[in-house]
Amino acid sequence: MKIPIEKPVLVTSALPYVNGECHIGHLRTYVPADIYRRMLRKMGYDAFFISGSDTHGTPIVLSAEAQGITPEEVVEKYHEHFKRIFKELNVDFDYYGQTDSESNHRRTEEIVKKLIENGYVYKEETKQAFCNTCGRFLPDRYVEGKCPYCGAMARGDECDQGCGKHLEPGEIIEPKCKICGSEADFKEQEQFFFKLSSFADFLVSYLDKLGGTLNAKNYAKEWVKKELRDWCITRNLEWGVKFPGRDDLVVYVWVDAPIGYISFTEELMKNLSLCGAPPHDPASPVRAYKKALPKKYSTTEENGWRKYWTENQATIVHFIGTDIIYHHCIFWPAMLKGADYSLPDAVVASGMVKIDGKTFSKSRGNVIWASEFLERFHPDTLRYYLAAQSSHTKELDFSWDSFSMRVNNELLAVLGNLVHRVISFAYKNFGVVPEGDIEEEVLGKIEETRDEVIKAVEEYEFKKLVDAAMGLADFGNSFFQREEPWHLIKKGEKERERCGEIVKNVLQIIKAVCVLLEAVMPDKMEEVWSQLGMESEVHSVKVDEMIAPIASGQTLKKPKKLFERVEV
Ligand SMILES: [Zn+2]
Ligand SMILES: [Zn+2]
Repeated sequence: MKIPIEKPVLVTSALPYVNGECHIGHLRTYVPADIYRRMLRKMGYDAFFISGSDTHGTPIVLSAEAQGITPEEVVEKYHEHFKRIFKELNVDFDYYGQTDSESNHRRTEEIVKKLIENGYVYKEETKQAFCNTCGRFLPDRYVEGKCPYCGAMARGDECDQGCGKHLEPGEIIEPKCKICGSEADFKEQEQFFFKLSSFADFLVSYLDKLGGTLNAKNYAKEWVKKELRDWCITRNLEWGVKFPGRDDLVVYVWVDAPIGYISFTEELMKNLSLCGAPPHDPASPVRAYKKALPKKYSTTEENGWRKYWTENQATIVHFIGTDIIYHHCIFWPAMLKGADYSLPDAVVASGMVKIDGKTFSKSRGNVIWASEFLERFHPDTLRYYLAAQSSHTKELDFSWDSFSMRVNNELLAVLGNLVHRVISFAYKNFGVVPEGDIEEEVLGKIEETRDEVIKAVEEYEFKKLVDAAMGLADFGNSFFQREEPWHLIKKGEKERERCGEIVKNVLQIIKAVCVLLEAVMPDKMEEVWSQLGMESEVHSVKVDEMIAPIASGQTLKKPKKLFERVEV
C-alpha cells in the first residue's frame, strides 16, 4: 500500500505476552516491522514505531501461582527480558510500554465507558465454569476440556490443538479445573458482552478498504461472512483492568491489550513534549530522533496522540502474526468504531515459523530461543535471515542448514566479498575515494534497484527488498571482475586514472547497498559506512543518498572482515 507522504505514520508491532522468553517465532513479526519503519524514514516519512508487553490475562496469573510469586513479578521479569532482546537485535522502538501502566488502565476504562454510553455493551447471566474443590470461577486458561466445534482438547478460550477457534466462556465441553484437576461445574454468573454482531456491515466495508497483506484481510472477511457473535468482555479475575463499577470483574485481556497501542502513543507523545527531558529510557532512539525531526513535527504537544487515534490525521499500520488476525481485523476495529476512535489503515500478518519442518512448540522443546541465538551469532545475521528466508506472509521453516547457507553463500560470498575486496583494493592503492564520474550503467542499476526496493516496502515484501539489494551487490562484484582494475594500477598514469574511476564506481555501488541494507542490518552497514569514510549517519540518510556521488578525496578506513563463516 502506498501511503500518503504528508501524514505521519504509526507502525505497531503485536504485543509480546510476557510469561516466557522471546523466541524466533516472535522475531518473525518484530524484525520486519522494524525494517519497515526504518525504510519509511528513509523514504521521507515521519514514522514512529511502538509496542509493549501484554501483561494481563490468565496465563500470567497461572505462571505466578505455579512459581509462588505475584503476576507483577512475572511481568517485570519478562518485560525486562524482551526489552533487552529488542535492544540487542536493534529492534528500535520509539516507545516500548506495558499494558499494566496507569495510562493503559485509564484509556481502557475510558473506552469501555464510551462503548457502554454508545449502547454497545450489555449485561447477561451466563454459565461459567466453576470448581467446587477450589471454590472459584475458572476463566480462560484455568479450564480445559473439549472444543464444541471439533472435539479436540482445548483451552478455555481457544481450541489451540484443533480448529483454532476462539472460545467464549462457558462454551467448552466437559470442563476440568487446571489447578486441581477436578471436573468443573457450571454456575450462573453475571458478565458483560460487546455487541460485535451489530458491526457486521461496518466490518464488510472496512475490510474492503483495509490495506496490508491479503492473508489478514481475506481471513477476516471469511469470518464476517459467517455469523459474528457477541464477545464476553469480562472475566472473574483480580489481575487486569477493572470493569467500570465492578470490583469483582476485570475486562478480557483482548480488550486492554490492543488499547495499549493507544496508551503507548500517549506515553510517547508525552515524552516528546517534555522539552529537553530524557524519554523513558536514556538510551532510547527517541532522543536522537527528536533532533532529526523535521521542523513541522518538532513541537509535539501532549495531546499529539489524538492526531493518530481520534482525529484521523495519521496512517496506522499494525504488524501481527497470522494467529491474531481475528483480534486485529474484527474485534479491534469494531471496538474502535464503537468508541468513536480512528481506525487502523493496514494490517500486515507474517506467516508462522516452523523448525525443521515441525510446528513450533515450547512444550515439545521445538523452539529456538532468541538469547541462545544471540550468544553465538551476530544479531544482523538473524535479521537478514528472517527477511531473506521466505516471503513475509508465507510460513518460515527455520533450519540451521538454511541459516548457514544464507550467511555463507550470501552474506560472506556476495556482500562481504564485495565490501572487503573492493575497499581493500581502494585503501591499498589510493587511500581515499579516487576521482571519476559515475557511469550511466552503474547509476541506472542503482536507480532501478532503489525503485524495486521502494515497491517491495510498499508491498510488505521484505524478501524482495533483500533480494534486490543483494542483486546490486552481485552486480558490483561482476563489474569489478569485468573491468579488472588490478591490471591497470601498475601501468601508466592514464591507466591509473581509469583504475580509480572503476574503483569509485564500485564504491558508489557499495554505498548504495549500504543505504538499502541499513534497515535490515543496521550494525553491519554502519561498519561499512565508516569504512567508506562517510561522515553522515547511515541510519538517518534518505534513499536518494544512493545516487548522490560518493565524494572523491574522502579518506577510506582499513577494512575489517564483515561476517564470520557459520559451520553447521
Ligand atoms: Zn476446535
Ligand atoms: Zn480446582
